[in-house]
Amino acid sequence: MKKDILSYAPEELSAEIELLGEKNFRAKQIYEWLHTKRVHEFSNMSNISSSLRTKLDEIYCINSIKIVRKLESALDNTVKYLYELPDGNHIESVMMEYKHGNSLCISTQVGCKMGCNFCASTIAGFKRNLLPSEMLLQVYTAEEDSGKHVDSIVLMGIGEPLDNFDNVVKFLKILSSETGKNLSLRHVSLSTCGLVDRIYDLAEYRFGLTLSISLHAVTDEKRSSIMPVNKRYNISQLIKACKDYMDKTGRRISFEYAVIHGVNDTAADAEGLIRLLKGMNCHVNLIPVNEIKERNYRSDRNALKNFASALEKGGLNATIRRTLGADIDAACGQLRREYEI
Ligand code: SAH
Repeated sequence: MKKDILSYAPEELSAEIELLGEKNFRAKQIYEWLHTKRVHEFSNMSNISSSLRTKLDEIYCINSIKIVRKLESALDNTVKYLYELPDGNHIESVMMEYKHGNSLCISTQVGCKMGCNFCASTIAGFKRNLLPSEMLLQVYTAEEDSGKHVDSIVLMGIGEPLDNFDNVVKFLKILSSETGKNLSLRHVSLSTCGLVDRIYDLAEYRFGLTLSISLHAVTDEKRSSIMPVNKRYNISQLIKACKDYMDKTGRRISFEYAVIHGVNDTAADAEGLIRLLKGMNCHVNLIPVNEIKERNYRSDRNALKNFASALEKGGLNATIRRTLGADIDAACGQLRREYEI
């Protein structure tokens, strides 16, 4: 099988190219063809000798992913892509327009093992991890198709990014490399359901990214009932890891809280959240829960507003997330699920 050349970090490609007996600047040129000019064929690398191009073509492949469906919101220009991977699996990305630029939400795995019971991505189970190239190609393909520049990226699509740790770290390195898209990791958010060991590991990289924690409940009993991961790492272990992350990176943390009526939206839940997070340099993102076919969950507007104002009164920095792409089921996992059944 040919090697996946889009998955190499710059220093790795340099080492590879050196092994072929080439000078170091060649690796840089090739990297730019792949990640800046984004050619799909080695034959288009016009400043590379034809003998090297042939050699590259024998050893490496330039992966690509195909848009098989594209849904465009009539409400707010949100675009949802359903992509087909080289092995026939499907993943999703969502492009959203904000005042400060375009943001792309990408998938990190095909399916998910985490089993959160309100989430569509996990219902059909887990198939495999995405390669670094398959995460990058979601960005490159969306940019090519839309003609828009992706200014920020959120790892909040299908999958648990920290369950695909090495490939996600590699993806972040390629994305932020000077000879690549050169995107500052300050414009990247990574969302996790709370794989505590990996949060400690991520802190060691001192990336500038924003870590988002999917919290969704403030007692272990309640959190475990909707998020099985809490049975492995409980809330106090999670908060301890978050504090370590903040100490090491100097970045504030964002907590995601999907507000589900009758499950986690009472005054007692709000009080518990205030007690848990008070004094931490963090932000709470309240998400009206997306209704999925398989569950009865919904958000109640009044309860959501009361919840938000209780948090504010309690001194927490909280916002209600704007719903984008409501008419195209832009939330994670919903399109892939429809397509594969
Ligand atoms: N596995 C990662 C990232 C993917 S999910 C994580 O758990 O954070 C991205 C976000 O969407 C998470 O906060 C997740 O809890 C939330 N989410 C999943 N299903 C949802 C739904 N039906 N309504 C609202 N938010 C949902």
